[in-house]
Amino acid sequence: MSDVVSRGTVVIDRERCKGCELCVPACPPNVLRMSTARNRTGVPYPELLPGCTGCGACLLVCPDFCFEVFRYEDPLHHPEAP
Ligand code: SF4
Ligand code: SF4
Repeated sequence: MSDVVSRGTVVIDRERCKGCELCVPACPPNVLRMSTARNRTGVPYPELLPGCTGCGACLLVCPDFCFEVFRYEDPLHHPEAP
């Protein structure tokens, strides 16, 4: 199997998040999942798994502007855990 590659990353403002979960199915490579922890308003927020492409779909779909999206110049390789 090949290792997972991240071509971008996101910064998530978890305290802004209202937990609507719209971003999770909107992410094409499916690398967002809702946290088990809660923010200060008591709702779960998205967490990023390896494999972000930097596509910006999460930024476009989030009604509360929780995402900043960055693209790496050189993709980041995440070796698979042994
Ligand atoms: S930028 Fe694209 S790939 Fe990365 S978390 Fe957002 S929707 Fe998913
Ligand atoms: S779309 Fe925005 S407000 Fe909704 S869960 Fe995702 S980050 Fe939170």
